[in-house]
Amino acid sequence: MTQIPDGTALAGKRALVLGVANEHSIAYGCARVFRRLGAQIALTYLDERAKPFVEPLARELDAPVLAPCDVRKDGDLEAVFAQVAETWGGLDIALHAIAFAPANDLQGRLVDSSREGFGIAMDVSCHSFVRMARLAAPLMSEGGTLLTMSYHGASKVVPNYNLMGPVKAALESAVRYLAYELGDRGIRVHAVSPGPLKTRAASGLKDFDLLLNQAIQRAPIGELVDIDDVGLTAAFLTTPYAARLTGTTVYVDGGLSIMA
Ligand code: NAD
Repeated sequence: MTQIPDGTALAGKRALVLGVANEHSIAYGCARVFRRLGAQIALTYLDERAKPFVEPLARELDAPVLAPCDVRKDGDLEAVFAQVAETWGGLDIALHAIAFAPANDLQGRLVDSSREGFGIAMDVSCHSFVRMARLAAPLMSEGGTLLTMSYHGASKVVPNYNLMGPVKAALESAVRYLAYELGDRGIRVHAVSPGPLKTRAASGLKDFDLLLNQAIQRAPIGELVDIDDVGLTAAFLTTPYAARLTGTTVYVDGGLSIMA
């Protein structure tokens, strides 16, 4: 496990983190690093079934906001932002680590994907980030950072990633357009692209263990990344060290993506 360095790089920052399902979630790694570096954290959970898994993590992170958020339900995201506005009066960081596709579509070939399944995957995994940006921007009166999670399957063909490839490609493109549209307000926008990590979402992909083994064998660093590695990269992107970076996809994959 990567050690999280102590520090105050995010002291006084207010971070909304969407997409914690449990302690293995990438979003939790990000929230934990942000907190360790001094930020305050707001969290969401998908539904009542997910709540008991997220509640203890919210307590551990001293989160003043823990709200339900299913991005397929009209009004949920708006209600989260209303609560954030009421609690903090502003926001510095909003992180989106949400993806979903119906199992049949996720596990079949792209060429066979249903119109409905493709639409749901796009809505939950891509357009919800655009909606998050729309709601976050007015709260970021002194600038801020918007982050989302992508994957190498966006730009290269990764067998079994299927329809999520084009969905993540759209997400990375949305990052660039949002960076362009929000740059003059001091809002920077990035995708972070982790190497494969054993999480609940990843367990829906066929032969995911193969991807993990290949990552260990092929990545120059020779180890899998963990959720704290992703959190540290995400944290960096929110600091003044990254003040002149926006619109990019930043890989945190031990170098896996440079390999032919
Ligand atoms: P995870 O299962 O822990 O997180 C996925 C989250 O999406 C869950 O919290 C789930 O509740 C949420 N979600 C799904 N549908 C939703 C909806 N309708 N409304 C609100 N939330 C919803 O898995 P993870 O691997 O931490 O996934 C986080 C992000 O990281 C995803 O975008 C995923 O594509 C991306 N990612 C994962 C890997 C990996 O190998 N695990 C690699 C690269 C990118």
